[in-house]
Amino acid sequence: MFKRVLIANRGEIALRILRACRELEIESVCVYSTADKDAPYLRLADRAICIGPGPAKESYLNIARLIAAAEIADVDAIHPGYGFLSERPDFSQACRDCKIEFIGPSPEAMGKLGDKVECKRTARASGVPVFPGSEDAIEDEEEAVKIADEIGYPVIIKASAGGGGRGMKVCHNEATLRTQLRVASQEAQAAFGDGSVFIEKYLEHARHVEIQMLGDKHGNAVYLWERDCSLQRRHQKVIEEAPAPLINREKLRRVCQAAAKMIQTAKYAGAATCEFLMDGKGDFYMLEVNTRVQVEHPVTELITGIDIVKASIQIAAGEKIPFKQEDVHIRGHAIECRINAEDPAAGFRPSAGKIEIWQVPGGPGVRLDTHVVPGYVVPPNYDSMIAKLIVHADTREQALDRMARALREFKVGPIHTTIPLHQRLVTNTDFRRGGVDIHYLERLLRA
Ligand code: ADP
Repeated sequence: MFKRVLIANRGEIALRILRACRELEIESVCVYSTADKDAPYLRLADRAICIGPGPAKESYLNIARLIAAAEIADVDAIHPGYGFLSERPDFSQACRDCKIEFIGPSPEAMGKLGDKVECKRTARASGVPVFPGSEDAIEDEEEAVKIADEIGYPVIIKASAGGGGRGMKVCHNEATLRTQLRVASQEAQAAFGDGSVFIEKYLEHARHVEIQMLGDKHGNAVYLWERDCSLQRRHQKVIEEAPAPLINREKLRRVCQAAAKMIQTAKYAGAATCEFLMDGKGDFYMLEVNTRVQVEHPVTELITGIDIVKASIQIAAGEKIPFKQEDVHIRGHAIECRINAEDPAAGFRPSAGKIEIWQVPGGPGVRLDTHVVPGYVVPPNYDSMIAKLIVHADTREQALDRMARALREFKVGPIHTTIPLHQRLVTNTDFRRGGVDIHYLERLLRA
């Protein structure tokens, strides 16, 4: 096992990884930008190293500075968390070049599954259902028009290197497809340094269902079943839950098995999430694979009892996945609310500043993943998520009631948070019935 790990991230996920390290008796080295210099979790680390100023480009996204910190601290491995450099093959490669273990996939496996076109090809070969559409990047306009005619409108144009919901264009007819192709390619070139785009069928009504996977360096892969993340705003998940309500579990099992085969084919070691859209008939279409731990991993941890972050460290250290597929059992229901420092009553305007009131929920079945303490100042530089409130109960209904209870206990001020939005959602009759689609929340907010 590793002796010392550098955590190349910040906020709640840095603390989550630190906790996993401590339970594995690994020393942890945190890094921080000057904007995070007073973050209280830094005091829990065995060592904390400043890597630069507030802007992420000069700190959390700066490979040279992170590697320098890793070498100064003499660590065996680096955990990238999510966001920042977690899905960058060049970071995984830089670690390898410096003989530091990257806690995540090899650059090759990340490249295979991280590029959308390449990933769809690997998925098809493993029997993972994908959207009908172009098999490769689009070479010319006529080819795109021909494919769109075959699969039928609407279609969606996506960047091969895309991410974060950016650079996608929905086209309802040929004229828009022709004009948007050029725009999409230029935008993709500017945003991702790669102008290749592809098209696929666009689903109007769908749910977001994703499968948690783990692969190891010995060729094993397991699935930890699904999460439903259909409640989204601007492609950002707001509430996640597991298991997914109203789902055909037999169909799901077949997709899970294919997804496990896919990550084996890609020689993937670490945690991965295979994201799907599910249509009204309960059929699945793969969106993409996220080659890292997800924000919403705790809901899976609560229903399976498996520590995904610990497992990913053990896997990187060369151990086998510490359990077998037949040992994975689902118990009860878990829900996560992402608490953001934003004002839902003012168009979700970011609400940075000092947190004077911070009274947190607790009691049976309640887990709070957060780096915030009373007096914490939310820096304006980063993502607005300040906490994840996760609950577990025997049934979905009990979990929803428990979440309502926990949200009522949660008092934050004077900054604004998304707690009032969550309160509204967990008592919403459509959401409680289950099976709302990915556009439901936007419709509700417009109404
Ligand atoms: P990104 O990597 O940029 O997040 P994804 O491929 O994961 O891109 O898609 C992001 C979101 O865009 C999905 O969660 C879904 O809401 C929407 N989307 C993507 N592809 C389709 C599609 N074929 N049909 C309908 N909606 C889609």
